[in-house]
Amino acid sequence: MPDSMPDHAPSFQNYIDGAFVGGGAGAIDVTDPATGEVVGTQALADARDVDRAVNAAARLHRERTLRDMRPIERGRMVQAVGQYLTAHREEIARLLTLEQGKPIWESLIEVDGAARYFEYYGNQAATVEGRSVPLGEGYFDWTEAEPYGVSAQVIPWNYPIEMTARSLAPALATGNACVVKSPELTPLTATWIARAAEAAGLPAGAVNIICGIGTEAGAALCAHPGVNQIVFTGSVPTGIAIATAAAQNIVPCVLELGGKSAAIVHDDADLAAFENDIRWGIYFNAGQVCSAMSRVIVHESRVDELIGRAESVARGLQMRPGIECEEFGPTMGSLVSDGQRERVAGMVDAARGEGASVVSGGYVPNKTGAFYAPTVLAGVTPDMAIANEEVFGPVLSILTFRGDAEAIEIANATPYGLAAGVFTGDLDRATRAARRLRAGQVYVNEWYAGGVETPFGGYGKSGYGREKGREALWNYVQTKNIAIKLAGPT
Ligand code: NAD
Repeated sequence: MPDSMPDHAPSFQNYIDGAFVGGGAGAIDVTDPATGEVVGTQALADARDVDRAVNAAARLHRERTLRDMRPIERGRMVQAVGQYLTAHREEIARLLTLEQGKPIWESLIEVDGAARYFEYYGNQAATVEGRSVPLGEGYFDWTEAEPYGVSAQVIPWNYPIEMTARSLAPALATGNACVVKSPELTPLTATWIARAAEAAGLPAGAVNIICGIGTEAGAALCAHPGVNQIVFTGSVPTGIAIATAAAQNIVPCVLELGGKSAAIVHDDADLAAFENDIRWGIYFNAGQVCSAMSRVIVHESRVDELIGRAESVARGLQMRPGIECEEFGPTMGSLVSDGQRERVAGMVDAARGEGASVVSGGYVPNKTGAFYAPTVLAGVTPDMAIANEEVFGPVLSILTFRGDAEAIEIANATPYGLAAGVFTGDLDRATRAARRLRAGQVYVNEWYAGGVETPFGGYGKSGYGREKGREALWNYVQTKNIAIKLAGPT
């Protein structure tokens, strides 16, 4: 890939065994969803490319180069990947915006977030310890945390560089060799991870990055007998296919799937402050966030005020091509594709048909690009499809409740369980609710509170296993117990 974007669309290759290579399945055009223009062409892997990538990773694991390194040195290499990304953050952010649609300022946040994973897990590399187990006088026993070997990682299109960093950093820090399958819609920025791995001095085979059609290259990767562990972030149906493939080979897998996450807003909540949670919770990345605040369940005494505030947040956002939005501000980019926009439009129309009222948005603007207006739906009831199914777009559904128990029941009523929020000035009430909400993380008085350091994952159909935080490290290692029978006293 060239250092800067030339006038003609550049080609992007796969990265296998330390070399940039073409793909056996040809190439696809990657387009800017805000304009329809081609940003670049991406090589597509076929099953043979998948095989080469897995074999390269398996060879490296057999050679023990990465796993036998002093953890602190391996950790420094992982940190160097992040430092490389930071050094190129502006270029990466531009490319990310062009392929994904988000404003440049959002892309910068994503690139910085990706770098942060490498910083954090690079630091953790030397902390993965075993323990000694007392077996009495005649034995010495201890455990070691060993890398699985080949970690296969399948990435979604909404945060391509950050999601790649989220699984790659802990996998490398614990000494695994990785094969990443980048998403077809937004594969281009992954090239920067490959470059960063090279610059950091990671040995060939430690990081392999291939793009390919999910049901072809993705399926071939997850079914490959050389893969020892799988991490998947994406939709529930694909998660089921991948968990099934993992079961066939008896390999563990982490599933980070979708959500229909709800914020409970109590009668004593600070609604002025909550405007910020609406802004970030449902309109950041145009709502294409697995843990988006897609439902607000508000006490009936405050619903009118909340609707008014949500409307003003939504109407205050300008829909603009991401590349025009360098500075942080009230801007929202396009959705990732026309297909995603049609899906969102279809779900909002269906909600209207079921009796929800459109307070703001609810339309496709008359302009080029996959834009959809920031939308607020009021009068949503728990039985409506819009209250249960993930939209993955800029659509906020507002529901009401009378008593605390009812609020929790509504929040817990979907098959998902990724995130939940409680907004109140009463810490006892918040604590009680937090314990009863069926979700992998609960935000109190700030949606998305937390960071790289805090464990993240789902209950129910939102998946299993935890990414982020120290918890994530345990996805990438298996415990070996070593018991020694000591000779008798001399
Ligand atoms: P998707 O499931 O369609 O695709 C995700 C990835 O899986 C892509 O790389 C795709 O090529 C690949 N894939 C598709 N079929 C496959 C198969 N049979 N075998 C192997 N790989 C296959 O999801 P998407 O549309 O890219 O992403 C949107 C979904 O991801 C949403 O549901 C969202 O909630 C979820 N998501 C979850 C998190 C999280 O951390 N929980 C984060 C981001 C996105």
